[in-house]
Amino acid sequence: MKIIVTDPLAEEAIKVMEKAGAEVEQDFESKDAELAAKIADFDAIIVRSGTQVTKEVIEAGKNLKVIGRAGTGLDNVDREAAESRGIKVLNTPFGNSISACEHAIALMLALCRNVPQGHASMKAGKWERHAFKGTELYNKTVGIIGLGHIGLEVAKRLNAFECKVIAYDPFAKEEVFREAKARKVEFDELLRNSDFITLHVPKNKDTINLLDSEQFSKMKKGARIVNAARGGILNEKALLEAIDSGIVAGAALDVFEKEPPESKELLGNEKIIFTPHQGANTKEAKVRCGVQIAEYVIEALKE
Ligand code: NAD
Repeated sequence: MKIIVTDPLAEEAIKVMEKAGAEVEQDFESKDAELAAKIADFDAIIVRSGTQVTKEVIEAGKNLKVIGRAGTGLDNVDREAAESRGIKVLNTPFGNSISACEHAIALMLALCRNVPQGHASMKAGKWERHAFKGTELYNKTVGIIGLGHIGLEVAKRLNAFECKVIAYDPFAKEEVFREAKARKVEFDELLRNSDFITLHVPKNKDTINLLDSEQFSKMKKGARIVNAARGGILNEKALLEAIDSGIVAGAALDVFEKEPPESKELLGNEKIIFTPHQGANTKEAKVRCGVQIAEYVIEALKE
């Protein structure tokens, strides 16, 4: 079994593969044509998000049986090309759920208390104790859109803050709402009643622009929005307009329509706080996703 790893993977994951008898090469330099030139020797490739597993790479992979991606999305793998050649494409969709959840909660609290603004002010040598009046999360109505793996974990943590948790997810089972201690609501009711709205849906044709001008116009005045799901689920232009018109009091974004974002209007808005798509970026998630994908790939190669 020869496996090439083309993005940095946790050491624990490499050990799993070596223990299973695999020969592992770590090469973080070869991309595109260079990768295509050497891929023929390998039975499997493991990537994170730094490598594009293109049609050319896949077609050059004469021995390739498995493509593993340590993480959630498969945007960087040409699945059609892989599947047409009978190559298995595997990922670890839930290895980083807790990290993504905790990041959404961190953003929500930072948004409540203007943490980035206070930090920036002190870094600039100021001591503005009264400039950043915040709001409590306690007793607020928080609307969760998408009650899947991450949405459910977010709900559990919001319960500890004694929030009123409501959720919209037409596909989630009743028992998930019960476990989340979340009241099941329709989309418009969530928009009308939430003090905070947090997005946890996948990005697909139905969820692109799920929050657009029409939805912002239905929101409670002073609502705050968190998007740590995927860019484009929330329309950035519509968000800026909703902030300008006073409907939305603030937003926290980890993900963007275009990454990195270029809009000066967006990045310059004082009421929006930002992180650079780092929801899954923890030590624990890296180890969990790395070890999981190593195990899945070994298992698939043994089949
Ligand atoms: P999941 O599949 O477990 O849950 C998604 C939920 O959304 C499901 O319950 C589904 O029924 C629901 N849903 C689907 N379409 C919907 C719609 N139109 N309206 C309402 N609900 C809908 O996914 P997850 O693992 O919880 O991930 C949630 C999001 O977080 C995804 O977009 C994922 O890409 C993103 N994510 C981001 C990071 C990050 O670094 N910021 C890390 C991991 C995951």
